Amino acid sequence: MAKSFSASHIKTHRVYSTWEAADALGCHKQTVIRWIKHKGLNADTSQRPWLIEGRELKAYLGVKQKRLKRKLALHHCFCLGCREPREPDGKIADYIHQTADCGRLEALCPACGSIMNKIVRRADLETIQAKIAVTVQKAHPRFRNLLSGN
Ligand SMILES: [Zn+2]
Repeated sequence: MAKSFSASHIKTHRVYSTWEAADALGCHKQTVIRWIKHKGLNADTSQRPWLIEGRELKAYLGVKQKRLKRKLALHHCFCLGCREPREPDGKIADYIHQTADCGRLEALCPACGSIMNKIVRRADLETIQAKIAVTVQKAHPRFRNLLSGN
């Protein structure tokens, strides 16, 4: 039961039969049926085949995966080593321009020392800088023209 399923292939506005849902998730149809019967997945079971709204399936899987999908504070990064959101070590991070509108926040995990990356919007940089010290790296030459608006 430790296996978790990604809902990324599930379309919110589609309706799935149990086997279509199983197929999209790469799990067994019985698994989906068990979710409906015993685990509180909402489905239309008034006739066969049972139908599940993509929205319900996403919500159900979202509930199951809630522990991994905690919302990050703007200045926190998700450490892949710890599988936990972390505040950058020493409250410092680098911001590296990616495009005119967004960049990559790079910081160290205070717990395990891994490099943590996060794509942030340039517009959020001030909010982030209120919490931690961010060194803005020089833009890549390719972007300098973009950034100066030419
Ligand atoms: Zn870590």
